[in-house]
Amino acid sequence: MLVILDRDGVINAYEEGQYVCSLAEWQPIPGSIEAIARLSRAGYRVAVATNQSGIARGYFSRAMVDGIHEHLQGLVQEQGGRIDYFAVCPHHPDEQCSCRKPETGLLREIQQHFGLSSLSGSWMLGDSRSDLEAALAASVKPVLVATGGGQATRASLDSEPLEGVELTDNLASFVETLLG
Ligand SMILES: [Mg+2]
Ligand SMILES: [Zn+2]
Repeated sequence: MLVILDRDGVINAYEEGQYVCSLAEWQPIPGSIEAIARLSRAGYRVAVATNQSGIARGYFSRAMVDGIHEHLQGLVQEQGGRIDYFAVCPHHPDEQCSCRKPETGLLREIQQHFGLSSLSGSWMLGDSRSDLEAALAASVKPVLVATGGGQATRASLDSEPLEGVELTDNLASFVETLLG
């Protein structure tokens, strides 16, 4: 069982159009670290799939992003869990890469990492429409949180619906519902 998490707006606080340019700007959403650790301790594999075009834009380096992920991993490990894989798209939208969500490259990278024949049965939590679209295109169950840009995304679903999107308040409430 695999749960894929968008990072900004799901694990850490985020406002649409902003960039997390330093470790100091990376602030976990209350309950998110514990929720990841709980998933992991329950036997779920946890992966992160994150667009970080700020690398291509020159706002920050890949090493800075890796440093944030090491920090995040340390916080989860303190709670007895782990994140099993980080998939990062470093590209600019203009590069039209195959990994930047809503493309499915990051999800396929995760699938390949775990040697899975299919991603069906896996979940993807995101706060952006692009997360949901990537999930749907890869046969992953899309879950929309209300944190980060999630409320704006939810409003957009009223005018432009997406099929089969589950709604949850935040990462912690998703895990609570999943594990009971
Ligand atoms: Mg996001
Ligand atoms: Zn990319």
